[in-house]
Amino acid sequence: MEIIPLYGKTGIIETPITTVGIYRLSRDQAVLIDSGDYPRPELPELLEREGLAVRAVICTHLHPDHISNNPALVERYGAEIFAHEAERDSAKAIFDMLESMGQYPQWTKIRPMYPITWLSGGQEEVTVDGAPFRIIQTPGHSFGHIAVVTPDGVCCLGDAMMSVPRVRQAKLPYMEDADQAIESMERIRETQYPFYVTAHKGATPLEALELMVDENVRVELELYDRFLRMMDHPRSEEEAIRDFLVETGTWKGDGQVSWFVSHSAETQLMSLIRAGELKWHDGMVYAARQMSRA
Ligand SMILES: [Zn+2]
Repeated sequence: MEIIPLYGKTGIIETPITTVGIYRLSRDQAVLIDSGDYPRPELPELLEREGLAVRAVICTHLHPDHISNNPALVERYGAEIFAHEAERDSAKAIFDMLESMGQYPQWTKIRPMYPITWLSGGQEEVTVDGAPFRIIQTPGHSFGHIAVVTPDGVCCLGDAMMSVPRVRQAKLPYMEDADQAIESMERIRETQYPFYVTAHKGATPLEALELMVDENVRVELELYDRFLRMMDHPRSEEEAIRDFLVETGTWKGDGQVSWFVSHSAETQLMSLIRAGELKWHDGMVYAARQMSRA
């Protein structure tokens, strides 16, 4: 593990699953944007080698793969943890679910039990020892998702978007609200920062932002489309979700389904119901077109 310099005092650290942002506040203090996937001793060891203490972690959201090293950083450095207030309930629901399903045991151990400084709904900036970090509201992937811009102007997107290679491979990106996610992506399209760090994964220069937004939006719209095309006959909600998982290749039709994956299909279904493209009738889900024909 190493700190890869990116722009000014901002760098990135590649953990196996996610990319973490790091901003050097001073010679011996840093702010992290997210803290990585599974709890890893390599991260505190790296900071030790670099002579850096972590003053704060600004979390783009509270999904387990972004906050796994928070407990160690709080304990070791007394790091202040920031997150958007709308993440409080989202995170509780996810950790409750993971615990009850017994999936991802390494993650259930890192449920946030430390103090968190909550950012309010419209908050546009967080200052850490005089250094201003701009906050851009990017709900969708999770309800309180934020992008964090370091004082150098590096925009850390968390899971608001994926890098182009990653999103092209993604079968069913996780979204709490896909419509909001698309709006957030379009909000990012309007910005002009030298670099955009995606948690999955790496950094994208401004010149390639347009393509990244296009690809992320395209993947979401195609999923809506596939769901609707699949609904050639009425199904129960459970059946519709199951069939969509098979349709997207995220489930083979037998064995355990990851909660994140089935929840992604469920939120897709709910978005289509909100948009009036799918309708409920007698406990079944129909394509609105079929209902009008019937
Ligand atoms: Zn996430």
